[in-house]
Amino acid sequence: MSTHLGHLVHIAGSPTVDDAVAALVDIADGALVVDDDSGIILFSGPRDEVPDEFAAHRVIDHGPAFLLPGFVDTHIHFPQTYSLDAYGGGQLLEWLNTCIFPAEARLADPEFARRIARDFTARRISAGTTAAMVFGSAFPVAQEALFTETERAGLRIVSGRGIQTSGPDSAAPLMTSEADAIALTLAEIDRWHASDTGDPSTALRHTAIVPRFSLSVTTDTLRALGDLYASVAERGVYVHTHLNENNRPLTGEIDTVKTLFEVESYLDTYDGKFLPGSSTGGESLLGRRTIMAHAVHCTDAELSRMAQTGTSIAHCPTSQQFLGSGTMPWRRTVAAGVTVAAGTDCGAGDEWLIPQVLADAFKVHISEPGDASVALHPAQLLFTGTLAGARALDAEERFGNLDAGKEADFLVIEPERWAPLESLLTNGIRSDDPELAREQTLFALLMGMREPAIAEVYVQGRLVEYEV
Ligand SMILES: [Zn+2]
Repeated sequence: MSTHLGHLVHIAGSPTVDDAVAALVDIADGALVVDDDSGIILFSGPRDEVPDEFAAHRVIDHGPAFLLPGFVDTHIHFPQTYSLDAYGGGQLLEWLNTCIFPAEARLADPEFARRIARDFTARRISAGTTAAMVFGSAFPVAQEALFTETERAGLRIVSGRGIQTSGPDSAAPLMTSEADAIALTLAEIDRWHASDTGDPSTALRHTAIVPRFSLSVTTDTLRALGDLYASVAERGVYVHTHLNENNRPLTGEIDTVKTLFEVESYLDTYDGKFLPGSSTGGESLLGRRTIMAHAVHCTDAELSRMAQTGTSIAHCPTSQQFLGSGTMPWRRTVAAGVTVAAGTDCGAGDEWLIPQVLADAFKVHISEPGDASVALHPAQLLFTGTLAGARALDAEERFGNLDAGKEADFLVIEPERWAPLESLLTNGIRSDDPELAREQTLFALLMGMREPAIAEVYVQGRLVEYEV
């Protein structure tokens, strides 16, 4: 048993994003008692309330450091580790063709694949991303390197190979036949899904069915993936893809999907309704373990269908600014009842750190026009980067906050390791109202944090130690 002393900050319980403000826990003299064997939090609260039965065990005093839940990144591209800040001279489709497809083709080389897997894993640890939905490589050798390095580091992961059966010439190295698309995906599930413990409810490693987006697959692929998902959903396999990102008229992503498939809405292509007129052609890929990245330009019907099926959104404002994709309407999306969690979308997102994505979320949503403008509360930001991510991964009962009973995924944040953050926290204006002052400090912590301030990363109570 270990007791970690520090400044606890998390969103307790299981609130909605709007109720996250009332669920904010902020305890300067806090204590986390963790069972070393199970990694479960036994006690979380003020250190002077630690029960006597836990008092005699190992104590790790982090001083004034903040103890935050590990960040959850619900959308990040492993094969784009070296593609942040890639200049393609255009928006989504041009950037894919010019920068991304050629970059991802390099992962066919096993030596390159191992190097990028090590660097990807190291970047995750630097950024305190303890759990992630990882958009994978087309190549099994690269996925093997990814899963192997992630396990060596002791991080959580959901990932699946990127599926492409259609596309431009630049995507040719990433494409397979229809039959291979399904066979390789099923082989990956059979080999890697929950293979660390043999039980999806205790595993750190899970797999997903990951078509890149509708434009990279055919109706035959969508039908076969629907059948595949129906056959593996009970095993806790996930689905991950992109939705409604680029709305440039006629030549952008959304209009191209609608023209190509002759469907009424983009979401229909993932919902089994991928035939002309949005008529049903197969099984749906939507559900509680499905995460759609972006969802910037959804119709009301699409949002309500996602809420109805428990499908979540990976919100990636950093990436959306980088590719000129627009801004997901915060109020309308949240009001529809869809879970909205944070995603870096590296490499279209050019930041690895979830708090930087939250900082961009604050900026883009306060800049929405008219009544849509909203100044997100720091508790809502923290919620979106932690507990909402766990919820999107259908794993809220396991991690996402520091409640007793959860698995102990947490970060030790030491502001003195990053002088600009320390100076914000030390010298910034604070209200005389202690509650507002507390919120101002949390806001500065999230906005001002950078990787150097993350001193330690714990998953299931174990310190993550990783040599590249
Ligand atoms: Zn993406």
